[in-house]
Formats: sequence, C-alpha cells, structure tokens
Amino acid sequence: MNTLTDNPITQIKNRQAQLVKALKPLLPEHALLWEPEDTIPYECDGLAAYRQMPLAVALPETEAQAVAVIKVCQNLEIPIVPRGAGTGLSGGAMPIAQGLVLSLAKFKKILHIDPIARTAVVQPGVRNLAISEAVAHHGLYYAPDPSSQIACSIGGNVSENSGGVHCLKYGLTLHNILKVRAILISGEVVEFGSLAPDAPGLDLMSILVGSEGMLAVITEVVVKLVPKPQLAQVIMASFDDVEKGGNAVAAIVAAGIIPAGLEMMDKAATRAVEEFVHAGYDINAEAILLCESDGTPEEVAEEIERMTEVLKNSGAIRIQVSQSEAERLKFWSGRKNAFPAAGRISADYYCMDGTIPRQHIATLLKRIQDMEKKYQLRCMNVFHAGDGNMHPLILFNGSDEDEWHRAEAFGSDILETCVELGGTITGEHGVGIEKINSMCVQFSESERELFWGVKAAFDPKKLLNPDKAIPTLNRCAEYGRMRITGGALPHPELERF
Ligand SMILES: Cc1cc2nc3c(=O)[nH]c(=O)nc-3n(C[C@H](O)[C@H](O)[C@H](O)COP(=O)(O)OP(=O)(O)OC[C@H]3O[C@@H](n4cnc5c(N)ncnc54)[C@H](O)[C@@H]3O)c2cc1C
Repeated sequence: MNTLTDNPITQIKNRQAQLVKALKPLLPEHALLWEPEDTIPYECDGLAAYRQMPLAVALPETEAQAVAVIKVCQNLEIPIVPRGAGTGLSGGAMPIAQGLVLSLAKFKKILHIDPIARTAVVQPGVRNLAISEAVAHHGLYYAPDPSSQIACSIGGNVSENSGGVHCLKYGLTLHNILKVRAILISGEVVEFGSLAPDAPGLDLMSILVGSEGMLAVITEVVVKLVPKPQLAQVIMASFDDVEKGGNAVAAIVAAGIIPAGLEMMDKAATRAVEEFVHAGYDINAEAILLCESDGTPEEVAEEIERMTEVLKNSGAIRIQVSQSEAERLKFWSGRKNAFPAAGRISADYYCMDGTIPRQHIATLLKRIQDMEKKYQLRCMNVFHAGDGNMHPLILFNGSDEDEWHRAEAFGSDILETCVELGGTITGEHGVGIEKINSMCVQFSESERELFWGVKAAFDPKKLLNPDKAIPTLNRCAEYGRMRITGGALPHPELERF
C-alpha cells in the first residue's frame, strides 16, 4: 500500500519546504522565491520550447550570501542552476527538476575601472553593453558584442564564451578577460587567471570559460578594454547567388584581410529585417554581406578599397559603403534585429548555432535549402560569416506538435551536417540541453569521459547544472550514436529505450 509520503507531489513539496526553511535565514525576504507565480518567469531561458519549474529561486545580493546558499544546496544535495539574464538560446539556464535557480541578477556593480591598464572589474550581473557605456568617456569599450548585448550579462557571456560581430578581429569572451572569481560547489571562493599576461600552472580560467555553469558560480570578472577606433565604415555587398556570397567570405580572409565584422544574411532574412527596421537592405539580392573596417582614416580607406576589389571579383552585383556613422549604425541595426524580425513573421523560431570552415558556407546553405523541402519548414540564415558561425533560424508554430518535432529534426540535421563538413555543433550559444544529443555525434566516448573527469574534479556530486552540456553514456546509447563494430553492441549493460 502506498503511503502519502510516496506520492511524488508530496515528496516535491517536502523537498521544497526543506530547502526554503534552510535558505530563509540566509537571504533577505525578497531574495527568495518559491510560490509558482513568482518562480514561473524563471522556467525557461531564451529557448522557450523547453520549460521546467524549479523548487525555488535565490537572488543573493552579496558573495557571502551566495556562498551560504551553495553550502545549503551541497548539504541537501539539491542541484543548482546559475542564471544571468536568461537570454541563452540553448536551455543552459533552464531549471533542473527539483533544483534551485541561483540568479546573479543582483550582482550588477562595476567595481573598478582602470583606464591606464585598460581593465574593468565587474560583477557577473552587469550587462555587456553597460560596460562599454561606463568606459566610453575614457575612449574605451569592451569588444565582444553579442546581438543580445543590451540585456545579456557578463557572467552569462563568460559561461558561454559568447561572441559577436566584432569577435572576428578582437576575439571571443575568452580573449577579452583576464581574471575570474568564482564559488566552487564546496563554498570555497577561488580566483582563476591573473592580471599579468600569463599565469603559471594549468590554465584553469580557459576551462571555466564556456563551462555553462557546470563548474563554478562566477562572482567577479576582470575584463580587458580596447580603445575606440577613430573611424569605422561598413560595406554592404549584394549577390545574386548565395554560393557567390559564401565564397566571397572565404576570399576576403584568404586575401589576408581581417575585417572588424563580416556578416552574411540570405534573402529570407533581409526581407524579414527590412520590413521591421528599414535598414536599407537590398531585398532582391539572394544574399548580402556586411563587411566592416575600423582603424585610422587611412587604414580604413585602404581596407575598404581592398575589400571592394575582392567582393567585385567574387561576383558582387551591388556595393554600398556607409558614408556616415548614422548610416553605418543603420546597416548594422538590421543585422542586430534579425532575431526579433524572425519573431515578427513566425509564431516561433528555433535558432541553430553551428560552425563550419568558411570555405563550406555555400555547401551548407545549399544543404539547408534541401532540408527546407524535406522538413516542410522555412529557414532564414543570418550569421557571423567571417567565423563560419552559422545561425539558421527555423520558423515553426510551437502549438503544432508535429511542426515542433520537424523543427527539432531539422535542427539536428543542420548540426550533424556541420560536423560532416568539418565543423562543430556549437559556435557561441553553448550546448545546454538543446544540443546535448549532438555531442554524442561530435565527440567519442573517451573524449566525453575526459569531460566528465573535469566535471568530477570541480563538482564530484554533479550538483552544478547537471544534465546539461555533457551527455551520459546512456543518453548517447539512447540516441543511437555509439559505434557498433562487428555486430558487438558496446555497453550491453546499459538500458536501451
Ligand atoms: C536575440 C538574441 C541574440 C543573441 N545573440 C548572440 C550573439 O550574437 N552571440 C552570442 O554569443 N550569443 C547570443 N545570444 C545568446 C545569449 O545572449 C548569450 O549566450 C549570453 O552570453 C547569455 O547571457 P545571459 O546573462 O543571458 O546568461 P543566461 O542565459 O542566464 O545563462 C547562460 C549560461 O551561463 C550560466 N551562467 C550564467 N551566469 C552565470 C554565473 N554567474 N556563474 C556561472 N554560470 C553562469 C547559466 O547556468 C547558463 O548555463 C543571443 C540571444 C538572444 C536572445
């Protein structure tokens, strides 16, 4: 006979009561949420197709409070999902069932700016754009610029190793930070990296960057700042064929030019964006490229001339160079608003994030066109072409379950094609829960075991953001991506579904 305490709902309620009772004395009243109407805004991140309610949400205001919260969760063995602004697109900040969301939203102070050393010490909840705004009067800015920079936090950027338009020339988040302070699952506060150009020992900061909240909770970041260039201009080039546009990207880099930004949009994307922000795009072109140059006026003039020549030789049918800062920003406004523009023309969209060697851009775009027919769904492409970082946006209606399943299959097909073309299943949005199955395709069993080894060194009980980013052996077996040699099924002891 089942007793009342065997009832799963009662068990969850008991667990929640236990957690709330332990956390209440540690946090101000407004910094602990557990009623469904308060926790529902945290049930997903930017990937709204996946949702899960947490047991509770803690919003500590100091590092000491965050340490105390982590210690409670460690003692009670409650999983923790660190959360920044929740703009992630791979479900990284989505809660774990029966877990706690640890929001860093209240850590939003810029603690110190050093214009001589060109560094700033910031708390993890500081918005990416707020850093550049705070240092603008020194003629400096923070270079990595995700399109979500108005909202996303630096803690999220570090955890995802985020990129943006300027990362081709200036590097990703990893290349623009010096030091990270973080809390381990034991509650110990540690620092990774150094203010000096190189730190002795193993480079643990690089392991923390892009670790998707699975290794430690970041509480402080020292970012590098760069001088604002004297001038920037952008070329908008039109192509009558996506293949020519893709090949032009490879040709620019092959010519030894590293533009400050090199982005591509296909016709579906330019049309959606143009209706939304009127950026002045050529909506008849099959593809457009935006190629930015920055530096002194002389450097910019020379680079614009060289890029124009390469673009013409690659078959550009129209070339327009921004003639003022206002026009440059107008050209970029379209690219920066491409995701919201997708949201205007489709009930839902599914943003993929694969990376391929630049010379295969045209091949992948053609393959995506075939997949549109196969899955009977539309897809628009807008991406960091210079980095080969593709962002196909699959348009679908989430209230139609069949469409959602087709969108998921379409997405996996794209990512696996990226791997086939020598690329990877993620560029800058992380693995989260969204791409966890595709990790089985990209990495061998021994590589995945190494990832688990690193995770165990930081978090032996797997309490920090578990079930994200690294697939278990069972999951890969279920996904059917383990190699079968001579008819012998590896790991016959594993449960198959
Ligand atoms: C419209 C739109 C455009 C976007 N464009 C880009 C783009 O151009 N480039 C790009 O790279 N991304 C882009 N993104 C994705 C997203 O904005 C980035 O991944 C961003 O870095 C997430 O930051 P966040 O503060 O929202 O983090 P969240 O979504 O809250 O969290 C992301 C991950 O980081 C972990 N995390 C967050 N804070 C901490 C912390 N303090 N300590 C430990 N772990 C933590 C979470 O557990 C989670 O795994 C875009 C998203 C949207 C919605």
